[in-house]
Amino acid sequence: MAPLAARLRDDIQAQGPIGVDTWMQACLADPEHGYYMTRDPFGRRGDFITAPEISQMFGELLGLWAAVVWQQMGSPDAFRLVEIGPGRGTLMADALRATANVPGFAGAVNVHMVETSSALKAVQEKTLAGAVSPVNWHLDIAEVPDDPMILIANEFLDALPARQFIRHQDAWHERRIDMKRDAFVFVIGEAVDDSDIPASLREADPGSIFEVSDAVRDVTAAISARLAQSGGAALLIDYGHEKSGLGDTLQALKGHGYADPLADPGEQDLTVHVDFDAAGRSAAAAGARVWGPLAQGDLLERLGIAARAAALLAGADKSQAQDIATARRRLVDTEAMGRLFKAMALTHPDAPAPPGFETVSWASSI
Ligand code: SAH
Repeated sequence: MAPLAARLRDDIQAQGPIGVDTWMQACLADPEHGYYMTRDPFGRRGDFITAPEISQMFGELLGLWAAVVWQQMGSPDAFRLVEIGPGRGTLMADALRATANVPGFAGAVNVHMVETSSALKAVQEKTLAGAVSPVNWHLDIAEVPDDPMILIANEFLDALPARQFIRHQDAWHERRIDMKRDAFVFVIGEAVDDSDIPASLREADPGSIFEVSDAVRDVTAAISARLAQSGGAALLIDYGHEKSGLGDTLQALKGHGYADPLADPGEQDLTVHVDFDAAGRSAAAAGARVWGPLAQGDLLERLGIAARAAALLAGADKSQAQDIATARRRLVDTEAMGRLFKAMALTHPDAPAPPGFETVSWASSI
């Protein structure tokens, strides 16, 4: 048995079945054996691919989004450009390159990368080696000085641990993971307090699942408290649902295919869809103004992906032109990433709508 699997088996034998959040935390973030700690998982030879790795257009357009937000903030002489969960650093490199000619912007930027994986931090350092703006790394957003900031997080929230509740015999129970013979299996744990579940969903059919991520709630609250205090905006992009709903979205990816989430702990990516409704409630309660969520395809169209693709096509040969067109479709089309992925913006309560969010104010569904 692999070392992390053996440790989880020992934990279960000692303490009883563990929560899905504990499982996710160990599989993804165990300091020694966690999935992100030990590898660079992106790209063709990895397990999955993300929007910034599909096309430079993604990071470039988000960079220009940040530049407009900076202008809306009054073009301050200094601000923090923060990215949480920056992967290979590709998004930030593309964003900095795209904004190099925005007058005053490059000189005002202090880049802060919040990353727990030392393996990925090493990749990011290489990617950003040529950056003209100062770049700092942190393990936690709490280490970033509390100044005006523009924050970007792409596919970060889905990697944070979530609990699952399961409806069983007219009550909600914690869904837990036990070990039977040599396999990890889901079991129904103790009954739980159902106050985290929206009232309209509480009387669900037996077997229904509801997911709650305390980690998503905490990080959106921390970001929002800073925005309310010091000003700025955040852009959170992830796959998820606009309204809180029932369903098991725990998913494992390995070699670009779906895998059993209870197999091979630490050797495959694990995610849950983001509940943007819950994230919005937590952000609003912490004092931020919430915008969206908006479909990723709509955001990229509004930020000008058509014009950016046309500019790239002008200098492209035949095969590059095909790649640009394919990448654009993957990012924008509703049957690809365009609709499942959503973007939510958070701002200081008095700030104007950030670019792309002019017509999409937010309202909680409960
Ligand atoms: N934004 C990148 C990577 C997404 S994968 C992209 O779009 O390509 C998730 C990223 O979040 C990885 O860099 C992972 O190491 C990082 N991560 C996971 N948990 C984290 C945490 N608690 N704090 C900071 N970074 C985290």
